[in-house]
Amino acid sequence: MKKYICMLLILCLSVLSAACNNKLPQPVKSEDFALGTIIDQDVYGANAQKASVEVFAKIKELDALWTINSPGGDINKLNDHAGLGYVELKPETITILNEARKISDLSSGAAFDITVAPLVKAWGIGTDHPRLPADNVVKQLVSLVNYKDIIIDQATNSAALQKKGQMVDLGGIAKGYIGDIVTDIYKKNGITSAVANLGGNVVVLGSKPDGSPWKIGIQNPRSETSDIVGVVEVTDKAVVTSGDYQRYFIEDGKRYCHIIDPRTGYPIDSGLMSVTIIASSSADADGLAKAIVLGLDKGMELVKNYGKAEAIFITADKKIFVTPGLEDKFRLEDASHEYTYVQNGG
Ligand code: AMP
Ligand code: MG
Repeated sequence: MKKYICMLLILCLSVLSAACNNKLPQPVKSEDFALGTIIDQDVYGANAQKASVEVFAKIKELDALWTINSPGGDINKLNDHAGLGYVELKPETITILNEARKISDLSSGAAFDITVAPLVKAWGIGTDHPRLPADNVVKQLVSLVNYKDIIIDQATNSAALQKKGQMVDLGGIAKGYIGDIVTDIYKKNGITSAVANLGGNVVVLGSKPDGSPWKIGIQNPRSETSDIVGVVEVTDKAVVTSGDYQRYFIEDGKRYCHIIDPRTGYPIDSGLMSVTIIASSSADADGLAKAIVLGLDKGMELVKNYGKAEAIFITADKKIFVTPGLEDKFRLEDASHEYTYVQNGG
């Protein structure tokens, strides 16, 4: 009997010690500033440190290449040469221009068009000097908006903008596109579990180390303190939001946000406050989030036609609509108690 008690004690002790040794793995956490925003990473696994460093280096390289604020970058080269023929660009720039075109094609340029740049500049939203341009200025600039005027010569890695005055701005796709590159870097380093947040563009690789899905908060578009209205559970996905709260100014009681309707040249006024897209491709998710331009019905239609994404739409009257595939993955967590979750499409 004594022998059995002793064995039981040893068994208990070994279970206890296994439990202690079996602590959940801790991520390598890092934060840096690039792409005009804060970038966070939580990366698990043996190469987590190396992968995190590689990610920041790549983001900074692409930021310099693609930002409209970098004089030596490819996008400025392209814009400065508008109406003057082809310029040779880095292969990666050609790839993102092709991706942008593919996303524009989904809405024939009605929602997403990177040639809205002259209007982005005229409105100055997000800069220190946002302003309401005159109607005739908007009218003149909107005549320059047409993504089909970006001509690409794949063989020579060259691109051209057809008309003088045309410009591209990758602000609506670069973070998303880079999100896909980030997950590729993780995979190349043998990482199977990671989450990166590129200023609201979230990419998750795999699941959490305990095997459960990642839980990503969806921001309350009218909270001053970035509270959430709900949580979505995802594995191996990008979760990307475009919202009228991210950059805006208010004049005479009207909100003018940083997302421009390519058809009118004015900031969106579509009855939506935010659109979140959940998809395997982070680049596509970023582009598709511009469904916010189209309003609820047409925006939902765009997501449906794309076929490989789920979405969360938040309307100006504080209703939340999700695509059918999200109904068991989205949960309302609204501390403000102001939002209504409309299930089954209302
Ligand atoms: P996001 O931050 O992804 O919501 O994208 C907004 C940014 O994309 C703006 O700051 C502009 O630089 C650019 N942008 C604005 N409107 C559009 C649009 N309709 N299509 C493509 N890019 C846009
Ligand atoms: Mg975005």
